[in-house]
Amino acid sequence: MRVEVDHDLCEGHSKCEKSAPGVFEVRDDDLSYVLLDPVPEEHREGVERAVRVCPRGAIRLIEDA
Ligand code: SF4
Repeated sequence: MRVEVDHDLCEGHSKCEKSAPGVFEVRDDDLSYVLLDPVPEEHREGVERAVRVCPRGAIRLIEDA
């Protein structure tokens, strides 16, 4: 799977980073960056949690074709 963060929506609250450490990194610009592409399956649970808890709905999970 792949994961995208919409930087027009992201406000840098870091809930994604806490849900899936190693997948998301919130940087000094208060935006979350995806560190892995593709994201290995072992991170699925954390990524799905991040999608649920992101207060801005900024995270999109894209399944492999
Ligand atoms: S939880 Fe959502 S709004 Fe907050 S930093 Fe992560 S992607 Fe951005």
